[in-house]
Amino acid sequence: MHTTPITVTLIPGDGIGPEVTGAARRVLEATGLAFDWDVQEAGAAVMEETGTPLPDRVLDAVRASGVALKGPVTTPIGVGFRSVNVAIRKALDLYANVRPALSMRGLPRARPDVDLVVVRENTEGLYVGIEHEVVPDEAAEAIRIITRKASERVVRYAFDYARRNGRRQVAAVHKANILKVTDGLFLRVAREVAEDYPDIGFADLIVDNACMQLVLQPEAYDVMVMPNLFGDIVSDLCAGLVGGLGVAPGANIGAGLAVFEPVHGSAPDIAGRDIANPTATILSGALMLRHLGEPEAAGAVERAVADVIEAGDAVTADLKPGHPDATVVGTQAFADAVIARVTGAP
Ligand code: NAD
Repeated sequence: MHTTPITVTLIPGDGIGPEVTGAARRVLEATGLAFDWDVQEAGAAVMEETGTPLPDRVLDAVRASGVALKGPVTTPIGVGFRSVNVAIRKALDLYANVRPALSMRGLPRARPDVDLVVVRENTEGLYVGIEHEVVPDEAAEAIRIITRKASERVVRYAFDYARRNGRRQVAAVHKANILKVTDGLFLRVAREVAEDYPDIGFADLIVDNACMQLVLQPEAYDVMVMPNLFGDIVSDLCAGLVGGLGVAPGANIGAGLAVFEPVHGSAPDIAGRDIANPTATILSGALMLRHLGEPEAAGAVERAVADVIEAGDAVTADLKPGHPDATVVGTQAFADAVIARVTGAP
């Protein structure tokens, strides 16, 4: 256990970001660990001041601390970056996006036996953003980049993750039957890497079949690794299986750097009203604790969140439809209920 304060870059983001990161910060502090939060603003608010939604000082701060907890950031439409979030991942070379989907009781709409992790390649594929009109208003094209280097490091990350976390299988998801060159390369590399991990099972699945299988029998899957766009889509499908975006945490992993953030966006429609669900950000914080070598504190946070949701005496409004007997509270009151469980307060 850390005996000195842990330096963490905190990027509150915008929209509901400050509310959900504020709630997560209080829950993490309730574990008894001490944090030295380096708060770095990014997004719409700093855009007006500095002319960019992502000042270099934010990236430098993450490089210095090695770890960040990040709220969602709104992507300004029509100016600047394609997406601040994609820009952060690119600038820091956060090559693996890790999105666990774990069933919690108390969410009747969620599937009961899901415990899988989607590892999404985070730096290339269609997200390189190279697209143009070939004939104005008639034809357009986008370039999808798949490299051996990026494929190999993300597949290796998935296998190492499986080993570290006592998982039994890695499944590579692809469309190599149609995209024979690009996904053909991804699949070939995945098969080669799998040979280095004889203790972990390996399977490969075509992405459309993977989606159907995940809906029919999600309990059959463990760690799944795939190129960028498939990972974006399949991980949202998996979030839906376990209760929706409000409960889906994520991590972006690079060499010696990691940024933890919820899967959901900045939800401008509900910002500033203390009604956003902070679960995804709190659980992202728990992933961060595990990354920092604090598995007991991480487990305490995860159990506390699951207990509060199962008990239903304090849930946010988005969880109510599946939980008709539950009492709806605001973002911070939900965090208070989690904190009471973490600290064992009556
Ligand atoms: P969104 O995830 O913000 O919202 C989709 C719907 O889910 C909305 O109805 C919203 O109210 C609801 N929702 C989302 N999070 C919730 C929560 N924690 N509790 C309760 N309800 C929640 O997606 P969007 O509307 O497509 O995107 C809004 C903005 O967020 C865009 O600018 C987008 O670029 C940005 N975005 C950022 C990230 C990120 O920072 N990683 C990710 C996705 C989208």
